[in-house]
Amino acid sequence: MNDTRAAGVVIIGSGLAGYTLAREFRKLDRDTPVTIVTADGGEVYSKPMLSNAFAQNKTPRDLITKSASVAAGELGLSVLAYHRVSQINRAAATIEVITGDRSPRMIAYDRLVLAIGADPRPYKVEGSDLVHVASVNDVDAYAAWHGKLKRGDEVLLIGAGLIGSEFANDLLAGGFTVTIVDPMAWPLGRLVPEAVGLALAAALREAGATIHLGRSIVRLQPAAGKGAIAILDDGCKIPFEHALSAIGLVPRTALARAAGLEIGQGIIVDALLQSSDARIYALGDCAQTAIGTLPFVLPLMAQARALAATLAGVPTPLKLPALPVGVKTPALPIVVCPPAAGSQGAWQIEGEGRDLKALFQGLSGGAIGFALTGALTSERQRLVRDMPALIA
Ligand SMILES: Cc1cc2nc3c(=O)[nH]c(=O)nc-3n(C[C@H](O)[C@H](O)[C@H](O)COP(=O)(O)OP(=O)(O)OC[C@H]3O[C@@H](n4cnc5c(N)ncnc54)[C@H](O)[C@@H]3O)c2cc1C
Repeated sequence: MNDTRAAGVVIIGSGLAGYTLAREFRKLDRDTPVTIVTADGGEVYSKPMLSNAFAQNKTPRDLITKSASVAAGELGLSVLAYHRVSQINRAAATIEVITGDRSPRMIAYDRLVLAIGADPRPYKVEGSDLVHVASVNDVDAYAAWHGKLKRGDEVLLIGAGLIGSEFANDLLAGGFTVTIVDPMAWPLGRLVPEAVGLALAAALREAGATIHLGRSIVRLQPAAGKGAIAILDDGCKIPFEHALSAIGLVPRTALARAAGLEIGQGIIVDALLQSSDARIYALGDCAQTAIGTLPFVLPLMAQARALAATLAGVPTPLKLPALPVGVKTPALPIVVCPPAAGSQGAWQIEGEGRDLKALFQGLSGGAIGFALTGALTSERQRLVRDMPALIA
């Protein structure tokens, strides 16, 4: 095995978490060597744009804003693209990487950061081994999926959560026939109250979607001609040419688990984003903070700023204000600022039709979360100011 002494700060992963951390760190420290080691091509792109690319008239290539080499040059660091990390050796402070068919190589680190993201939750139902069901969580998977679509094709979307609803709206914008199936009684079921979810369902239906709520697929089967059929638990049969699963993400923990780090739903980190090994940190979709996993952009940016300062020598605990998320469904614009997980209270709804304001009233009085739709999304800034911080 060849040993390459990269040392300094080694970041595994070139998603928004990896690159944002590198950028924030370089603002504070121009000298310490930084190496990004990544299994993909290391291109810079904004993942949220994957689910509104048709509406923005962008191809998968248009979504990439910088190549790995341009990003490396601008940030004064190395990006090792197509280098998959297969092992962390904590005792030696090295990682083992695999590149193509060459034999594994070792890279040393002083501080190691895991920014390795999450995997799409596998979708399994009778027949799912016979029918291709895609999932999209990076630009390569998006390009592969996009390459198979022809305008007008029938697309089955499994899951009406945030990502599923956004993809549904975007596919409608791209001229596709869209059918959505979700076992919950309304879209965005884990984030918003019924009235808001049903307003979104109405808007997506108006835009052309067929939506089956409170229903599950019991079987997928190849069709006699082209495409396939999904059979629902009420017996309904949905013909489709392409299926996309958007049923959630599972933080990537295998690498950390094999290295003996503490794992929960994600890689467990403390207020300094430090794992159970003092030289190893984690942020972004793979990390589990004191308030759980936070698979969104604003939390990872706050994490990146805090961790950059810590790595630059000023230990900086993570602080998280209330973090609203804009749902990219132009059929009905929505902003959600969900209450912290496990909060007790009840939703209170104002407004009507497309324009709703839902406030989650906590037990001690006062709103601790909100969801806004349509014209009332303009109240976002005002309401955010009054929300309690997620981590003070
Ligand atoms: C379609 C879609 C739309 C979204 N829209 C929004 C939105 O509107 N607002 C919002 O706040 N959030 C949104 N999100 C969520 C947000 O995009 C993610 O939280 C964020 O991009 C996660 O970044 P990350 O860097 O943690 O993970 P990733 O982007 O998944 O990056 C992980 C990196 O780790 C690398 N890697 C993994 N394993 C290894 C290994 N063993 N060796 C080397 N490299 C490895 C991968 O190659 C990759 O470079 C959206 C997500 C999706 C999928």
